[in-house]
Amino acid sequence: MTSSKSFVKFDKVDKSYDGKVLVVKDLNLDINEGEFITMLGPSGSGKTTCLMMLAGFETPTNGEIYLNSKPISRIPPHKRGIGMVFQNYALFPHLTVYENLAFPLKVRKLSKDDIDKKVDKALSMVSLSGFEKRMPNQLSGGQQQRVAVARSLVFDPQLVLMDEPLGALDKNLRESMQYEIKHIHESIGVTVVYVTHDQSEALTMSSRIAVFNDGKVQQLSTPDKLYEEPVNSFVAEFIGENNTFAGEVTDISGGKCKVKLDTGGEIISNPISVNSKGEKTKVSLRPERAIIDPEEKMDNKHKGKIEEIIYHGDHARVRLNLLGNKEFILKVPNSSARMDIKRGNEIKVGWNSHDARALDPKSI
Ligand code: ADP
Ligand code: MG
Repeated sequence: MTSSKSFVKFDKVDKSYDGKVLVVKDLNLDINEGEFITMLGPSGSGKTTCLMMLAGFETPTNGEIYLNSKPISRIPPHKRGIGMVFQNYALFPHLTVYENLAFPLKVRKLSKDDIDKKVDKALSMVSLSGFEKRMPNQLSGGQQQRVAVARSLVFDPQLVLMDEPLGALDKNLRESMQYEIKHIHESIGVTVVYVTHDQSEALTMSSRIAVFNDGKVQQLSTPDKLYEEPVNSFVAEFIGENNTFAGEVTDISGGKCKVKLDTGGEIISNPISVNSKGEKTKVSLRPERAIIDPEEKMDNKHKGKIEEIIYHGDHARVRLNLLGNKEFILKVPNSSARMDIKRGNEIKVGWNSHDARALDPKSI
């Protein structure tokens, strides 16, 4: 796919609010038509600023954004055909559900008949048919947010932007709304740019995720690749659970490297973003890649002392002191029912060097 064909293109976009500090730095991002792409990152990393520039409420300081290959700066916000849902982008409180949904259609001067049809369709999409006459304060938080989603879709936009739309909802409702939004996306195929700081939400919903930190995209990839193949320590630690070992490369050859740990000891790792002896690194190992009673062929075998056992229903998280890392986490299936998993006991743990990824210790 050539980048000139992308549906939305951020081309070398910088943004500064004060003329000094860049809060978005050299952003290059291509979004395909029909994609569900998520901007994921900690608070203050520049996600909302990117959405605001795409919507037209902020202007890039440098660079250009293209929509359908046209520079967007020449198109006023209301002509961009973009629907929006925000955490705090409340419904009009004095209008009924019907009137809230009809509003963007009246602005576009549709006939009463067309408005009725589109409102009907949008409400059924979010399973709220029959709620037309309710006022927003007669709806639960989840229902209000579903009306907001319906309103963003009611005028058949080419693109929908959602900025932390589920942030105010409790956990169960948030999870069911995640599936609901994902299913709506799948059924109507509209392009969605979604913003969240919640990594599990991003993993559940997205076709691709752009991980932001400090105004820069650290990695853009599919959920499984981000989890399995993080390119730097920031991404490894932000997404999923992670065991981290800080150290220095002492040898590198044959697709493996030796890392001398700051806490003492040595591990054999996979040199993902280190190239030579003497480099600082952080080695990332997913908890489920480490096992008790290591196989003979594993090139990392170490003893760890059990510090804590936390019951999680189907599995237990066992915290070990291993090679001076007191936060080493191991996942043990509940079915294993081992007698030696007791606080204070020493156990043998091992993993393959391939799964211990020696990464750049910094974010980009
Ligand atoms: P996120 O959505 O990832 O939390 P934002 O895009 O809201 O991040 O903010 C990025 C940075 O820009 C933050 O340091 C924030 O304080 C600053 N910022 C956001 N909006 C404005 C604004 N309107 N004026 C000045 N600074 C802003
Ligand atoms: Mg934000």
